[in-house]
Amino acid sequence: LDGKSRLPSWLKTEIPKGENVAQLKKTLRKLNLATVCEEARCPNLSECWGGGEHRTATATIMIMGDTCTRGCRFCSVKTSKTPNPLDSQEPIKVATALKQWGLDYVVITSVDRDDLADYGANHFRKVVEETKKQIPSLMIECLTPDFLGRRDLIDLVATSGLDVFAHNVETVEPLQRYVRDHRANYRQSLGVLEAAKAANPILFTKTSLMLGVGESDDMVLQTLKDLRASNVDIVTFGQYLRPTKRHMKVAEYVHPSKFDYWQRTASDMGFLYVASGPLVRSSYKAAEFFIKNILQ
Ligand code: SF4
Ligand code: SF4
Repeated sequence: LDGKSRLPSWLKTEIPKGENVAQLKKTLRKLNLATVCEEARCPNLSECWGGGEHRTATATIMIMGDTCTRGCRFCSVKTSKTPNPLDSQEPIKVATALKQWGLDYVVITSVDRDDLADYGANHFRKVVEETKKQIPSLMIECLTPDFLGRRDLIDLVATSGLDVFAHNVETVEPLQRYVRDHRANYRQSLGVLEAAKAANPILFTKTSLMLGVGESDDMVLQTLKDLRASNVDIVTFGQYLRPTKRHMKVAEYVHPSKFDYWQRTASDMGFLYVASGPLVRSSYKAAEFFIKNILQ
């Protein structure tokens, strides 16, 4: 480890800057959209927003407010039992803003809203419907809560017109209670991914795993087997980084060669697309899958 930052060399990144990003941020302020890219100070921002090597601009936006009813030990989002009510105009506002932004691929994610009778499923659906209505060519991935496993609510989102249904298992089964809020669990999350595919078989399903929270290789392999058994199409692996001292510790900085190993292993197991690397985030190069598999 390096003495200056206590981070291994492969995790040291430049904070995104430069003309292009500054311009994008200025435009974005006018659109009034909350992006995970900025809030999480994601190191991939210039690449994603700028379109990367394939010129496919991608961003992750957050709906249903900035306050979550859950509290996972790795997550820096604010927590409250009583977040602000939903903004009924949000579907229109989001669709209008995305139209002006001109992205190619958007990931729409949200906090968990256990305070609402439908956990926000109808609102999520309306955001997707309105966005597809205004911008039919935009590829949409939804990174959803678990809706406490309710089939009717998962179906609402899975049939809203989206292209990719993503829900994160986050970590291996034995570490779920340690890492995630007590209302979440591994089997429930696998069930969410299965239910989405059953509701809409042409959907691609996707999940993400954080590495470096204390998992063993056997546990990761078992997770991949479980995900394949649940017909999950896309998997991503990234390094867990501790947002603040109040969050759980990093158990290990996983070496890039291990990420390469999981990339190969998961590809060999039949996932349609795998992204694996220390700085890979769930939405990193999200559009690449389509470029490689669908659009060519
Ligand atoms: Fe945004 Fe995800 Fe790209 Fe990071 S990886 S900049 S969060 S779209
Ligand atoms: Fe963060 Fe999601 Fe957990 Fe809420 S449910 S605390 S947004 S990871």
